[in-house]
Amino acid sequence: MERKMEGSTTRDVETGNETGGEDALVGNVNKLMVSPPGYSGVLRKGHLVFDACFESGNLGRVDYISEFEFDLFIRPDTCNPRFRVWFNFTVENVRETQRVIFNVVNFSKTKSLYRDGMSPVVKSTSRPKWQRLPAKNVYYYRCPDHRRNYVMSFAFCFDREDDVYQFAYCYPYTYSRLQHYLASLDRRNLPYLQREQLGLSVQQRNLDLLTITNSDHPSPEKEKKLVFLTARVHPGESPASFICQGVIDFLVSQHPVAQILRDHVIFKIVPMLNPDGVYLGNYRCSLMGFDLNRHWQDPSPWAHPTLHAVKQLIVQMNQDPRVSLEFYIDVHAHSTMLNGFMYGNVFEDEERVQRQAVFPRLLCQNAPDFSFSNTSFNRDVVKAGTGRRFLGGLLDDTSYCYTLEVSFYSYMTAGSNVPVPYTEETYMKLGRNVARTFLDYYKLQNLIKDNRPTHIQSSEVMSQTGNAKGNGVGRDTADREREKRGGVRH
Ligand SMILES: [Zn+2]
Repeated sequence: MERKMEGSTTRDVETGNETGGEDALVGNVNKLMVSPPGYSGVLRKGHLVFDACFESGNLGRVDYISEFEFDLFIRPDTCNPRFRVWFNFTVENVRETQRVIFNVVNFSKTKSLYRDGMSPVVKSTSRPKWQRLPAKNVYYYRCPDHRRNYVMSFAFCFDREDDVYQFAYCYPYTYSRLQHYLASLDRRNLPYLQREQLGLSVQQRNLDLLTITNSDHPSPEKEKKLVFLTARVHPGESPASFICQGVIDFLVSQHPVAQILRDHVIFKIVPMLNPDGVYLGNYRCSLMGFDLNRHWQDPSPWAHPTLHAVKQLIVQMNQDPRVSLEFYIDVHAHSTMLNGFMYGNVFEDEERVQRQAVFPRLLCQNAPDFSFSNTSFNRDVVKAGTGRRFLGGLLDDTSYCYTLEVSFYSYMTAGSNVPVPYTEETYMKLGRNVARTFLDYYKLQNLIKDNRPTHIQSSEVMSQTGNAKGNGVGRDTADREREKRGGVRH
């Protein structure tokens, strides 16, 4: 069925009643041809065709304003219209040198890094590597025409008629991409890596669990330390997947630090806690509209099956006398802050507070983009039901629960006030730095006594599937210099 754009220029500005707005949007546009109102001839070049009917796609509606301007509506999260942030769509049938302005008019957030220089990412058929648009082409402002919603406008000039262009809120990392990555790990038959299906989502997608450890290594300790990591409980937070892949890439590599860590530590990783939400192109919720990170207290096996399965596993491991669950880290992305940073819990016991600060401090020394000053330990009511808060109460006082956050946009390194936009590769690099920080931590705890060199050469740990370019030795040298100057961040 062809969807037409009749009446699309009437935004009902006069009446202040924006009919057919986000409340009415339930599906993505499907090869939607947007020709001028009243136009009934054949489709011409320059009559843009929008599509979001693909994995992680999101675009609910397009209004033709003029030949040069289009209003775009984010399709709200499934079963939860309150969340409208992630977008991801293609445009084709463009005219060469066609200049357009796209206004994304129904964001559910007010504060946004779009005010601070963030820009959407774009790629096209002939240029398949994602890049951020120039910040000077992006405007973020409160718009009287759209219920005083915040609007993000960006200017773009199409340049190749046969290209399909794709625009997104941030670098997508889909469920299928994860499945391909995990399949590539499977094919390597690594003796210290085990992949299992921990459960299924409501729509029967895999809930994958990776276990990375050298089980042949005789552990001198009576119980083996266990680190548990999860990502993508919030499906629109795609940078979390790049971090998670960086962690995995490092831990399965032949890097000496990774080998030592595998001898002493068990890593359990759930790379995608909300596979349906990711597949559907939601920002925050599951298929049924739940923010899973508010349901840790009492997850239901039918409404929150993935969360239920992960929680069961954690509770079970916590009771296992052979292992000591020491870290739980849940990876997220942040829409208003810069850098990587962590949230932890508040404790009465000052000594415990100090112990909890150790890992973020060590990470700060290893990762130039990680900010200790942004790291905070809080106990606000809003965060009740999160993994960090719930497990912080469940696990004993030798365990640490953190939320690891990373900016959707950029980081600033020590002594600089120029934001450096994150790339897929620098997100993965943060993951590698998180992984190697466990060695520093366990050396400090005297669990690991080893003096082998521990600095990562990026070239030693290359992603099997990611883009590993732009990560030469020069950058590592700069990192070392920065570390020597000290770890204090802005
Ligand atoms: Zn989140």
